Amino acid sequence: MPLMTGKEYLESMRKLKLQVYMFGKKIENPVDDPILRPSLNSVKATYDLAQMPEYEDLMTAIDPVSGKRINRFSHIHRSTEDLIKKVKMQRLLGQKTASCFQRCVGMDAFNSEFSTTYDIDKACGTKYHERFLKYLTFCQENDLTVDGAMTDPKGDRSLAPHQQVDPDLFLHVVERRADGVVVRGAKAHQTGIINSQEVIVMPTIALTPEDKDYAISFAVPTDTKGIFMIIGRQSCDTRKSEGTELDVGNSEFGGVEALTIFDDVFVPNDRIFLNGETEFAGVLVERFAGYHRQSYGGCKVGVGDVLIGAAAVAADFNGAAKASHVKDKLIEMTHLNETLYCCGIACSAEGTPTESGNYMIDLLLANVCKQNVTRFPYEITRLAEDIAGGLMVTAPSEKDLRDPKIGKYVEKYLRGVHSVSTENRLRILRLIENLTLGTAAVGYRTESMHGAGSPQAQRIMIARQGNLNMKKKLAKEIAKIKE
Ligand code: SF4
Ligand code: FE
Repeated sequence: MPLMTGKEYLESMRKLKLQVYMFGKKIENPVDDPILRPSLNSVKATYDLAQMPEYEDLMTAIDPVSGKRINRFSHIHRSTEDLIKKVKMQRLLGQKTASCFQRCVGMDAFNSEFSTTYDIDKACGTKYHERFLKYLTFCQENDLTVDGAMTDPKGDRSLAPHQQVDPDLFLHVVERRADGVVVRGAKAHQTGIINSQEVIVMPTIALTPEDKDYAISFAVPTDTKGIFMIIGRQSCDTRKSEGTELDVGNSEFGGVEALTIFDDVFVPNDRIFLNGETEFAGVLVERFAGYHRQSYGGCKVGVGDVLIGAAAVAADFNGAAKASHVKDKLIEMTHLNETLYCCGIACSAEGTPTESGNYMIDLLLANVCKQNVTRFPYEITRLAEDIAGGLMVTAPSEKDLRDPKIGKYVEKYLRGVHSVSTENRLRILRLIENLTLGTAAVGYRTESMHGAGSPQAQRIMIARQGNLNMKKKLAKEIAKIKE
């Protein structure tokens, strides 16, 4: 059965020769680095949960081609039920990790490449779909985590890729050979790349014929010669290396992003899925973005569940749980969180089959989903901070709590309700801090804004999909306007 255990995943990551840099140094062993390890644990959870009988239905699927049970993260959605289960799986993992578990980008890349390669072949007589299917089978059989790399650095936003002063600000082909191509460029804020064995690279915007060299999509192992990764700093990241797990808030799990450089990387022909067909770059981008906007209706909701729970626990520990305004704030947080879930489920339930045989989400509803995600987690966060109180940012460190001389004062004066230890009160406040201001805030706050495209990108799609003319017609009919 092609399902890896969490332990096997860990071992497979140890074997990779990744080029990872952080704080100006090469990290020889990213797997055991205290700052990076929590992010690996989050991906590991996608393997661990798939082994548990109670989660089998959400975490795994039967591939209709091979008949084998595979991890849902490498599954091609074949029905609206599959699309719904994807969102439910993401909510579950958000609940279990309270962070970004990173593996969704590969799943969304698989599904957008599946239909797009089919469409390119049909229009251009190419053989990309067959190549892609071979690659997909390889990933499914080996249960690989695959990064979906889309976002180029983009330089001057007013200029097309070929117009940039530095042509490498969008990833492009620099050499064409009989056996493949050589590419140069970078992909910015790559979620989970250091915890992935493979990466699928896609263009970042719709392209015109002048940008032919930029219309390139391919897959390579993450330790391919020429690829290196520079880890993005996260707020409070070095707390993970201080040896005070209480201060971290969520010491077990986390997310990670890296600026990933492709410094003249060779890509063999059988790993190329788009090469110069500029008219399909926008299609691939739109589909990938659509799937990832659906994803946020699952993962952010799961993390939201943890934050709502943490706020409720903080209210209990403060002795404020019975106050009517606290109850009302928890209701509001739940209402906002479940609204996001409604959007994730709705765009899945309204999905439709593509000609290639997989299922596409309803693009309008997926974009509405993500537009709401750019707002609601901010309000949920505001309410959590309101309920928690200022101590979540002024509390002394774990070292002070444990100190033989001053620890007793921290213990005495920072106690809330007497039946709860000060340590437990601080634990829940640090978790709220982690989710709203610390390392997990990358995934829960700013990623809610910019991940899967910034708010304006969704508004463009909403304008395109909103069918305003149909709505005008409805109004004119009701108003009996004859033109
Ligand atoms: Fe998955 Fe959410 Fe992280 Fe994207 S932000 S990779 S959907 S957990
Ligand atoms: Fe994301």
